[in-house]
Amino acid sequence: MPNTRGSLKITIALLSSLLSAAVAQSPQPNPAPPPFAAMPQASQAQLENFPAQLLDELSAIKTTALADDYAYRQVAHLTENIGPRPSGSLQAKAAVDYVAGELRALGLTVQLEEVKVPHWVRGAETAELVEYPGQAKGTGQKVVLTALGGSTSTPAEGLTADVVVVNNFDELKALGHDKVAGKILLFNEIFDKEKAAAGIAFVAYGEAVRYRGAGPKAAADLGAAAALVRSVGSADFRLPHTGFSFPAGIPAGAVTAEDADLIAHLAAEGKVRMHLTLTPQKLPDATGFNVIADMKGSEHPEQIVVVSGHLDSWDLGTGAIDDGAGVAVAMEAAEILQKLHLHPKRTLRVIAWMDEESGGAGSQAYTKDHSSEFPRHVAAIESDSGAAHPLGFDVKMTTHATELLRPALAVLGSFGATAMQPSSYAPGADISAMSDAGVPALGLLQDGRTYFHYHHTAADTLDKIVPVELRENAAAMAVMGYALANMKEPLPR
Ligand SMILES: [Zn+2]
Repeated sequence: MPNTRGSLKITIALLSSLLSAAVAQSPQPNPAPPPFAAMPQASQAQLENFPAQLLDELSAIKTTALADDYAYRQVAHLTENIGPRPSGSLQAKAAVDYVAGELRALGLTVQLEEVKVPHWVRGAETAELVEYPGQAKGTGQKVVLTALGGSTSTPAEGLTADVVVVNNFDELKALGHDKVAGKILLFNEIFDKEKAAAGIAFVAYGEAVRYRGAGPKAAADLGAAAALVRSVGSADFRLPHTGFSFPAGIPAGAVTAEDADLIAHLAAEGKVRMHLTLTPQKLPDATGFNVIADMKGSEHPEQIVVVSGHLDSWDLGTGAIDDGAGVAVAMEAAEILQKLHLHPKRTLRVIAWMDEESGGAGSQAYTKDHSSEFPRHVAAIESDSGAAHPLGFDVKMTTHATELLRPALAVLGSFGATAMQPSSYAPGADISAMSDAGVPALGLLQDGRTYFHYHHTAADTLDKIVPVELRENAAAMAVMGYALANMKEPLPR
């Protein structure tokens, strides 16, 4: 009887994980366990939704993924053969054609969804301190920086102005227009490396990235000639970190953490002047595409489970961890099913999103074109937090829905990807509109301790991906995607 077998499997999996935890914690014979250690029982609903055959299939998917280098070959091609893929670039278009071709080769029905994207290209980016306390005659101090996405240009020969350093928006406000107008304003908000090291890197990122996002506009509103932010991230090899910034109409850049310290220290001693040259260009909007590839459901083709990552990247590195890896593991979810001749009951939809980095035009287009189908979108997964060892999922769904997925998670227990971390916001920028519309949303939850060393820097390259960890991510995506597509009842909202 399927339910009995399912129950037995779960029981054994839980028992062995409890046992190994107990062994790890205490070499001594254990006293009788306290009541709170009682073994969790699978609920009737869990057992009904995950009969034994489905659990066997999920196990086979995991085992196959852990020995499969498909995702790695995909991200290698995206990063090394194609390269950086900013919105509007030739590489972004080449990546669309490549991913569409690969998914067609797997037998999926592929559609390209056209979307207008911004087209911004980096120019020269240099800076030098030309006046500061203690300066040796005839010298200057080089400042390492990069333009933020959407930055306007300085004159070709650059501009020279005094630098004003603030640590936060309150200090900016207190300075007011008279002390900011005509100056180069530096926001010196420090990325909290302690939080990142302790495993809550995205909290540190959220705190610091407000300045990258809104700082230049706030500086422009007070008449600043240009705005700089301290790089958002934990990189400490003098690497600047680019990223989206709200249009401010002034040149905007990120200096490295080291250079932010340098400027702040000198400014505390006296007057600091900078010569700044940033010459990016905003070109006319370009045409981009979301790649949407369906593996049609055998029983409920109208019900859709999305597995996704974003295909565009920043231009400094080659977009390996952000987010070639996410696209690659979403593609592998389909590849594994094809390899094992498994058929999803609901439609498994692989999406490679365009323009996550420079405004989200891809997800906006999808919402416009598909929102009438959102009631039939059973769930959506995005991987956009890197390629490191997966710990489980961030989830925005009801507690009841989360609990129903436990049997699928247990399959991932052999490598520990069993956490279900409730999130108050959509766990993935491209699936946030779906999530807001009530679609249960999941984001792969990776170990983020080193993610912000590389994210949005020139060091986001293929070597940062550990193949065995990418395989674990692919296994987590494929198992969860298939579980959502094949569990008996659609995941409740
Ligand atoms: Zn990303």
